[in-house]
Amino acid sequence: MVQELGQKPPEEEKENEVWHFEIDRNQLQSLVKEGIEGHQWVQQGPFLVCKSCPIEHAVWIGMDKRLIGIDEDGKPIFQKIGKRR
Ligand SMILES: [Zn+2]
Repeated sequence: MVQELGQKPPEEEKENEVWHFEIDRNQLQSLVKEGIEGHQWVQQGPFLVCKSCPIEHAVWIGMDKRLIGIDEDGKPIFQKIGKRR
């Protein structure tokens, strides 16, 4: 009789990978400041990308807005663009 020793079924390994990913993601999210205020936003296409948090994160703002500055509260100021007459 042949016994297979030390070999885990592939499915079990896959579950472990997912589990580790979930932990990592939660840790990363806790490093990101909540809300849209107080970040150093840089516009990249339809996204605002934050450059001040320990990890880079982005917010979708859409194609019709342009970041023109940050107000006193640290909120991004947008200019509406797109529709031209
Ligand atoms: Zn940020």
